[in-house]
Amino acid sequence: MSRRHPPVPIDTNVVSSLLECLPDAAWLVGAQDLRVVLANSAAGSLFQVKSEELVGRHVQELCSSLEDTAFWHEVAEWQMSSVAESCSSPSIQSETLLRRFDGSTLPVTRHIRSVELHSTQRYYMVMIHDQSVQNDLQKELEDRLAELAATLDASTDGILVTDMSGRVRNFNQRFAALWSIPNHLMARRDDDALAGWLRSRVVDKEACDLLLGGVTADDASNAASAISLKSGRVLEYDLVARGMSGRPFCRVLSFRDVTERVESSRRITTLSSTDALTGLPNRAAMDERISIALRRSEQDNESFAVMVVDLDHFRHINESMGREFGDRVLLEVSERLKACLRQDDIVARLGGDEFVMLVHRVDQKAAEATGKRILKTMSQPFRLGGISFTVTCSIGVAVCPVDGIKLDDLMRRSQSALQLAKTSGRSVVRLHESEADNEESQQRARKSIVLDHAMRQALADNRFRLNYQPQVDLRTGAVLGAEALLRWHDPELGHISPGEFIPLAEETGFIVDLGKWVLNQAVRQASQWHVQGRGLLVSVNVSALQFQQPDFVESVAMALQQANLPARLLELELTESILIQNENEALERVEKLALMGVKLAIDDFGTGYSSLGYLKRLPINRLKIDRSFLRGLPADRSDVGIVNAVINLGRALDLRIVAEGVETEVQRQFLETAGCEQYQGFLFAPALDVSAFIERLGSQGPLNKLLLQKTP
Ligand code: C2E
Ligand code: CA
Ligand code: CA
Repeated sequence: MSRRHPPVPIDTNVVSSLLECLPDAAWLVGAQDLRVVLANSAAGSLFQVKSEELVGRHVQELCSSLEDTAFWHEVAEWQMSSVAESCSSPSIQSETLLRRFDGSTLPVTRHIRSVELHSTQRYYMVMIHDQSVQNDLQKELEDRLAELAATLDASTDGILVTDMSGRVRNFNQRFAALWSIPNHLMARRDDDALAGWLRSRVVDKEACDLLLGGVTADDASNAASAISLKSGRVLEYDLVARGMSGRPFCRVLSFRDVTERVESSRRITTLSSTDALTGLPNRAAMDERISIALRRSEQDNESFAVMVVDLDHFRHINESMGREFGDRVLLEVSERLKACLRQDDIVARLGGDEFVMLVHRVDQKAAEATGKRILKTMSQPFRLGGISFTVTCSIGVAVCPVDGIKLDDLMRRSQSALQLAKTSGRSVVRLHESEADNEESQQRARKSIVLDHAMRQALADNRFRLNYQPQVDLRTGAVLGAEALLRWHDPELGHISPGEFIPLAEETGFIVDLGKWVLNQAVRQASQWHVQGRGLLVSVNVSALQFQQPDFVESVAMALQQANLPARLLELELTESILIQNENEALERVEKLALMGVKLAIDDFGTGYSSLGYLKRLPINRLKIDRSFLRGLPADRSDVGIVNAVINLGRALDLRIVAEGVETEVQRQFLETAGCEQYQGFLFAPALDVSAFIERLGSQGPLNKLLLQKTP
C-alpha cells in the first residue's frame, strides 16, 4: 500500500454526493499531487475495497497503462503553461486494464476530465466503466460469427445472404465456387460488381435480376426455382426470407447444381414425348407445341393450322400384309409427311395410322394448299419388299384463330373435318366447316334421324319392295338370273334410293334386320320361279355387318329350308372389304355356305385390296366388275386395261365374270370381244318389279334347260 497525503480541502459533502449519483465508478484526483481526494462507493466495489481506502492513493496506483503515465505528464505540463488559462483542459478516454490490489485485472473504459471546483483548485475526475461483460458478449458474438462462417462453408449448398434491399451480407465458399467468383471480387465488398458478375454468368439476365433484387415484406414469401448458366450448368435455388417477430430482415438464397438431374429428366421427357416407331413427337408433345403456338398467336396474331392426316384403308394393308409391313409403310409415310413441311413445322404421330401436323403462318387457303401437296406426295407409289402399291390419305384441317383459339377446339374441329373427308370419298382435304356449313351438317344429321325412323317404320309396315335386275348372257341375251335390289317408296318422303338409305342402315345397324327381310323375300321369290320351272339364279347383296352376325350362315340355311329352295339357285354378293375383315372367320363362313351349295360372287370387284393368293382360297363362282370401270369403255385406256385384267384373272381362276352397268351396245361388244360372258345393265333392263321382270323375260322360259346348265 502506498503512502497517504492529506487531502486538499474542498466542499467534500457536496462533491461526494454528486459522485454517488454517477452509475459508474468515479474518483476525484487533486491536480497538484495526483492523489485521490474522493471516491464513490461504485469505485470501492470495483476495487473490492471500501471507498475510503482509495482516498489518498496516487493515480498511478489505481491505473497502470503507459498511456496513462504519458497522460499525467501531459496534464502536468499543461498546468504549467500559459495556455492553461485560455484553453480547455485535456481529457482522455481510453480502454485500459484496471489492476485490483489483489493483482486481478479488469477491462475498463476510462474517462478523465479536468474539473475546477474553486477558482484556484484544479482536480481531475476519473470515471471507470466496467467493460468485462461487454467484452464477454463481444467475444461470444465473434465466436458465433466464426462458427456461422464455418457452418456456411460446410454446407454443400452455395449460400448467399442479402438484406431486404438486396445488399450482400454474406456468402459461402461453395457459392463462390458455383458461380466461379474470382478472387478479386471475393476480397472486396462491392455489391454492384458482384451482381454484375452474376448477371454475366446467366442465360436469362431478367431472372437473375429478380433473384438479386430487393424483396419487400409483402413478397418476401419463400420461392424455389432454377436458373441456367451460360456454361450449360443449371442451378436450382431456394429463396427463404428470414426475420424476427414476423418482420423479414434478410433473404437466404441456397443454390444447388442440378445439371445432371435436369439432363436425365430431359432425356426421359424426350423418350416419353416421342413415338417409338417413327421417332416423331407423340400426342403429348404435339399438345405442348400447339399450346406454345396458341400463346404466340395471341401475342402477334399469327395464324397456324392443325392438320390431322389419316391413311385410307390402312387396316387392309396391316391385315393383308402383316403388321411388320404395316410398320414399314408408316415409317415411309412419316418421312413423306416431314418432307412436305417447312423447317419449323411439326408432324407428330397420334397412334395407329393417324398423324397430326402443326403448320405455322398459314390461313385456311394456304393450309388447304399444304394439304393438297401432302395428298400429291402420298399418291406417289410406295415400293416396299418388292411390291408396288399406293396409300392414300384423308386430311382434316382447323386453323387458328378462325376455327378456334383453344387446343381442344382445334383438335376436335380438325378431327371432325377429317371425318367429313372420310365420308366424302377419302383422299381429300377438308377444312373445318364454318357456322353456315355447320348448320348444313346439323341439317344432315336431322335428316338422318328422320330417315332412320321412317326406314324402321317402312319395314314394320311392309313397305319395302325388291326389284330384280336381269343378268344376261353376253352372247345369246338369255336371262340367267337376277340381282335383287331394294326399293323404298315412302308416303311422305317419296322415293328414296338404296344409295341413300343403305349406308345409313349400315351405320345404325338396321341393315341386319333389313338384310334378313331381303334374304327371305328374295329366296321366296326364287322359290316361286323355281316352282314355275324358270330356274333363275337370284343374287342377294349382303352387307358387312349382316355377314358378321354369328347366326348368318344359319339364317341363310333357314331361309332356304323355309322356302324349299335348292341352295344352288341362291347367290350371295359379298364385297372384297367384307372378305378381308377377319380373314379366317370370313373364310370359314364362306366355306360353310359353299358346302351348303350356295353360290358366291364378289361384288364391285376391282375397288378393294384382296390379294390374288387369298382369292384363290375362296370358294367363289363369279366376279362382278365394278360399274365404274365400264363407264370409260372402250375409249379410256386404263379402264380397258383393268377390265381386260379382271377377265383374264377370271379365266385363270376359273371364275365367271359379270360386267355391271352396261348401258350401250358398244360396251357390250367390247366385253364380248374381251371374253366376258355375262352382263347386267340398263342396256338390257334396269331393276324391275316382278311382273315387269317376267314380261321382260318374254318368250324365254318357262324351263330353260340350256340356261340351267349355263348357270354357274
Ligand atoms: P350394287 O350392288 O352395285 O348394285 C348395282 C347398282 O347399279 C344398282 O343400284 C343398280 O340399279 C345400278 N345399275 C344397274 N345397271 C346399271 C346401269 O346400266 N347404269 C347405272 N348407272 N346403274 C346401274 P341401286 O339399286 O341404286 O343400288 C345401289 C346399291 O345399294 C347397290 O349397289 C348395293 O350396294 C346397295 N343395295 C341395293 N339393294 C341392297 C340390298 O338388298 N342389300 C344390301 N346390303 N345392299 C343393297
Ligand atoms: Ca350387287
Ligand atoms: Ca356392284
